[in-house]
Amino acid sequence: MEYNKSGSRPVKRRLRKDRLFACLAVLVIVIVGISSLISGCSKKAKNKDKEKTTKTDVQVTQQTTVPVENNNYIICVDPGHGGSDPGSNYGDRTEVVDNLKYATIVYEELNKREGIEAIITRTTNDVHIENKERAEISNRAGADLHLALHRNQSEDSTANGVEVWVQKEAEVVDEVLGYKIREALKEVGIQSDRGTQAGYTSDKQNNFQIIEYTDMTACIVELGFISNDEDNRLFDKHYKEYAVAIADVIEEMCADGYFDDTSSDD
Ligand SMILES: [Zn+2]
Repeated sequence: MEYNKSGSRPVKRRLRKDRLFACLAVLVIVIVGISSLISGCSKKAKNKDKEKTTKTDVQVTQQTTVPVENNNYIICVDPGHGGSDPGSNYGDRTEVVDNLKYATIVYEELNKREGIEAIITRTTNDVHIENKERAEISNRAGADLHLALHRNQSEDSTANGVEVWVQKEAEVVDEVLGYKIREALKEVGIQSDRGTQAGYTSDKQNNFQIIEYTDMTACIVELGFISNDEDNRLFDKHYKEYAVAIADVIEEMCADGYFDDTSSDD
């Protein structure tokens, strides 16, 4: 086929050139587009990395600024009665005074022991604290043991000796606690061992309030009868040793892990 001078071939060439330019232009646009997309993505990725790094840094910072968890066993020493409630009495002698006397030493002794932090519900005899509030002091502190310290009383003046009260459905920790405290007090010297008692004096299906309201292991130590002369003589002679002996038992039981994970037990 022959082409004239103004033939179509050159036109076609121009058209091809135009198309070529158009294609190149499109290609350039596409390449530029893709490359900008890629750089955008990589920026986002970098930003994410930055966010990650920042978060990690924050976490590390937070970890280092959070106070080291206090792993001490918290023991709440609870001298019974106070204020308008003097507890049992015998002549001039009142339970409220005796309780604080030996509880203060138990408290001080426990605070000397490694890994134990003792708190005390009262430090004077003129404050009245309801049993529910005493339990709340322990609960709020996250105590591992609530140790209620009392002295006993009976109309029968010959009634004597030591007993430890625990919850009505005594667990191993309650039994061990009662047993060890009684054994330790026996070694110091008591008139008689009245055993570990579960429940409430007149109703074994119920607990003493202080045991009922506390979220952790709790017991009541009845350190002799205030209504018995010989128990009082022994108390006056040995109350410091009794207190140290009780602290020894608690320290040993803490070390043996008896109070681990006892929260929410009755
Ligand atoms: Zn009492």
